[in-house]
Amino acid sequence: MRSVAYQVNLTTRFRGITSRTGLLLQGPAGWGEWSPFPEYERPEIDAWWAAAVESATLPWPTPVRDSVPVNSIVPAVSAEVAGRYATAGGCRTAKVKVAERGQTLADDVARVEAVRDALGPSGRVRVDANGAWSVSEALTAIRQLARFELEYVEQPCAGVDELAELRVALARAGLDVAIAADESIRRSGDPERVARLQAADVAVLKVQPLGGVRRCLQLAERLGLPVVVSSALESSVGIAAGVALAAALPELPYACGLNTLALLQQDVTSDPLVVSEGRLAVRRVAPDGEAWQAPPQTDLWWRQRRATVEAAGGEVAG
Ligand SMILES: [Mg+2]
Repeated sequence: MRSVAYQVNLTTRFRGITSRTGLLLQGPAGWGEWSPFPEYERPEIDAWWAAAVESATLPWPTPVRDSVPVNSIVPAVSAEVAGRYATAGGCRTAKVKVAERGQTLADDVARVEAVRDALGPSGRVRVDANGAWSVSEALTAIRQLARFELEYVEQPCAGVDELAELRVALARAGLDVAIAADESIRRSGDPERVARLQAADVAVLKVQPLGGVRRCLQLAERLGLPVVVSSALESSVGIAAGVALAAALPELPYACGLNTLALLQQDVTSDPLVVSEGRLAVRRVAPDGEAWQAPPQTDLWWRQRRATVEAAGGEVAG
């Protein structure tokens, strides 16, 4: 299959990187994106490859909706500007970063309060700690944040056991706040452990790390939890696969975390999947233009990386 590498700058530093790079794959069904982060290795990147191959070679499962609601993203910014991020793109749900290194719980409380004010009582507010809290820190933080009526707290602690322990502690404290698992689903190697241990109320699923749209649909069924579809900071080509998953889920009670294009300085297409009235349309995306094309050494690096996955027999979608 034909492929071309892309490289675009991020608007702000994220996970220690300043640019996003990946391989776009063209097959009989359209385009797929393969963009595991540079430090990821086999076999973890095989699932990402399976997702790209699926996108390029197979049609999307039948959608049950033609657009999907998405959340805005509020990074660890000051409370003064947080409200503007929260309502961008007409979103009615905001995801607020909390537990940022170098900041305090008071910073988190001020930011979440500003977001709640900006969205009003009918808006929905969720927070994401990216596993930074211990169980007791999470309990302390959630005690203070609960008054802003959180939709859920995403990955408050790093471990699945900690999430399970926290849910018990919250119940004992009479705090009715839902917990979502993100990193525990896609990087633990055993996503179903979250369900077995009753460690979360909501599962965050990402298409590439979990091996494709079909595998995510199957996993969602096995987990038996409501699903929030999120992106892996992809171009519009990769986001389109996430939208396809969200569109095919029988139920979609929460806004999706697919509104991440604003984190990129440019896209791989002149017709990007941008948010309108808080929603993204369900459609295929094809790259055009060449301003996004990676320099030759990056392109070569991706081709070599692809060869290692294919030589190992790379998984096929199914
Ligand atoms: Mg997350």
